[in-house]
Amino acid sequence: MTSPHPVLAKIFRHAERCYPNEAVGALFAKNGTIIEAVEAVNISDKANRFEVNPIEVLRIQKQADQTGFEMVGWYHSHPDGEPIPSKLDADCAFEGQICMIVSVKQGIAAEFRCWKFEGGNYKQISAIL
Ligand SMILES: [Zn+2]
Repeated sequence: MTSPHPVLAKIFRHAERCYPNEAVGALFAKNGTIIEAVEAVNISDKANRFEVNPIEVLRIQKQADQTGFEMVGWYHSHPDGEPIPSKLDADCAFEGQICMIVSVKQGIAAEFRCWKFEGGNYKQISAIL
């Protein structure tokens, strides 16, 4: 990566701002490429967990529809953790969903990985930014 992709930079900043809590947001794509990240509010009161109000999910979905983008999945952060989906992440995933995880170490977004939930498992995919 030569210069940080603007969408990735936006996600990293959000992840750092929410540290030590998990940041969460939606990923919008066009023609299979992620072109926008939309911040959501993490309403979970538990550490290492994220939850988005279903009303906000609908609002974000509507925003995607109105802008002609496809909401392909979510990004979230793992404060002081690896960018690997947890058991809890898999429990609330659905088929075909893209999951980007940002590892935030001591407040600094360090690394990210993209995953796709297929056949009941997460498979790592190349970044589609
Ligand atoms: Zn997670």
